[in-house]
Amino acid sequence: MSKKTIIVVGAGIVGASIAYHLAKKNVSVTVVEQATPASGATGKAFGWVNTTVTEDAPDAFLRRTAIHDWLRLIQEIPEIKVNWSGAVSYGTTQPHQTAGLQPLSLAALNALEPALNAPASQAWYAQQEGTLEPAEVTRQLLEKARSLGTRLKIATPVREFIRSEGKIRGVITPDECLLADGVVLACGIEIPTLLASEGIVLPVIASPAVLYKYHSSQRIVETLVAGDDIELRHAPDGSLIVAEDYPPGGDISALAEQVKSAIHRRFQGDVLLELFAQNVGLRPTPQDGYPLLGVIEPAGIYVATMHPAVTCAATIGRIVSEEILSGQNPQIPESYRPSRFIFP
Ligand SMILES: Cc1cc2nc3c(=O)[nH]c(=O)nc-3n(C[C@H](O)[C@H](O)[C@H](O)COP(=O)(O)OP(=O)(O)OC[C@H]3O[C@@H](n4cnc5c(N)ncnc54)[C@H](O)[C@@H]3O)c2cc1C
Repeated sequence: MSKKTIIVVGAGIVGASIAYHLAKKNVSVTVVEQATPASGATGKAFGWVNTTVTEDAPDAFLRRTAIHDWLRLIQEIPEIKVNWSGAVSYGTTQPHQTAGLQPLSLAALNALEPALNAPASQAWYAQQEGTLEPAEVTRQLLEKARSLGTRLKIATPVREFIRSEGKIRGVITPDECLLADGVVLACGIEIPTLLASEGIVLPVIASPAVLYKYHSSQRIVETLVAGDDIELRHAPDGSLIVAEDYPPGGDISALAEQVKSAIHRRFQGDVLLELFAQNVGLRPTPQDGYPLLGVIEPAGIYVATMHPAVTCAATIGRIVSEEILSGQNPQIPESYRPSRFIFP
């Protein structure tokens, strides 16, 4: 029997994970990327595997399963590293009662984060959380997929689709037409634009956020710290990574200075910080906050996108590949299906 063939559009962490999981199941995969791997939101992501979530959160199913799938994936691809440091959070808003979130006494907070000037508000610890380097993990997934036969075409934008008997069965790029048994759209914020060419309206919003990187004269945090004034962690090379909401006026350089001041206020030790990167990333976010996973009928094209997808990429790869092979995966909640947006 000939192998099933699938085209994955987009080489962010979602497309890379789907490609790897399909290749592992003996599917012949072609990944088509308009620029380079992780050049979209993934390359600007903070890297928090943020799995502590209330039961009623739109993405609860995926975030709760995420740890299990990352643990499996690092067995399968030992090059992938997740730092299970846990996350300390603080703020005046009491989080909802959430399994895995433990209130911290001052002594416990000091033990976890000795350099932190204790906030006036309550602090919590989520032990079962971690961080990873999203661009690096994306490349490692693609490398493994390639070793299993996946083709990766970079600098190749998909412009349109090829239909056969009413179903989308291929893509058109500037230099060739590619045919397959199926097409998966994992191209984040560009999903609506591509589907518009087929007359399909799917509301995926581009939600901006900023990632800053500073050379740091010393380590100031041991875990990931997410307070109401600052969200930061160290990268494996010791640099400090900070994620921020996009500022209302758009002045990200001014915000970088405010971040520095907030770090000096919040942490002891007069750390020297030198900004070496600031990037705005556009987070693909389905309008109602629920993940988008499934086939759009009658076109027969698969879409996979959500926020926060770094957290959930390992699980998305597994459950989407299972669905593509078997035709249906009842594990995927109905609330995630694109049909909720598609009206005849
Ligand atoms: C500052 C910031 C911090 C974040 N922090 C976290 C975090 O801590 N934890 C977390 O879970 N999430 C975080 N996120 C969100 C996370 O980055 C996204 O959810 C995730 O990266 C989305 O991955 P993706 O593969 O779906 O999309 P993308 O990474 O955007 O990948 C889509 C790819 O498709 C390609 N593409 C687009 N159009 C075409 C086309 N026509 N043809 C071919 N290729 C195309 C793009 O070039 C891109 O490479 C953060 C985001 C930002 C900006």
